[in-house]
Order: sequence, then C-alpha cells, then structure tokens
Amino acid sequence: MFTVIFVVLVILACSWVAMKWMYPRPPQGYYGPKPGERTVPRQCDYCQHTLAEWRGIVEGERFFCNDDHQSDFHAGKQHHAHKPS
Ligand SMILES: [Zn+2]
Repeated sequence: MFTVIFVVLVILACSWVAMKWMYPRPPQGYYGPKPGERTVPRQCDYCQHTLAEWRGIVEGERFFCNDDHQSDFHAGKQHHAHKPS
C-alpha cells in the first residue's frame, strides 16, 4: 500500500518538474513594452490587423505584426481573412 502512495508522489513530483521545465516563467517585462518602445496602435500592412507598435515589426513606413507577415508581404502574397461564406 505504501508503495502505491510512494509511486503517486514520485509521479506528482515528476510532472511538477516537467511543468516547471516546459513552462518557465517569462522574464520580467516580457508581456509589457520595454522603456522607449512605442505603444501607439498601428495597422499591419499585410493583414490590416491593429496592434501596439512595440509588439510588431517596423520597417520604414511599413508595419507588420510578425516576421511571417513581413516576409509574406514582400513575397507579394495576399492576406485572406477567414470570412464565413
Ligand atoms: Zn499582420
């Protein structure tokens, strides 16, 4: 009987360690803008999504939400919004 309890405790400890390892706490300030970063809302030139400037990529006069949209824009792709037909 004590073996069962011991095994359960070991499993709990292992999963706790795994959780800590897989989902480490983000460094302080990860979810917020760093000093000097602009928080003005801007519209992505690719998907027209609006988000704060510090969360995206500024390229001269253009703005993109992420690397994918930046490269897709330069690749000449068109963004297809998921609209119900
Ligand atoms: Zn975008």
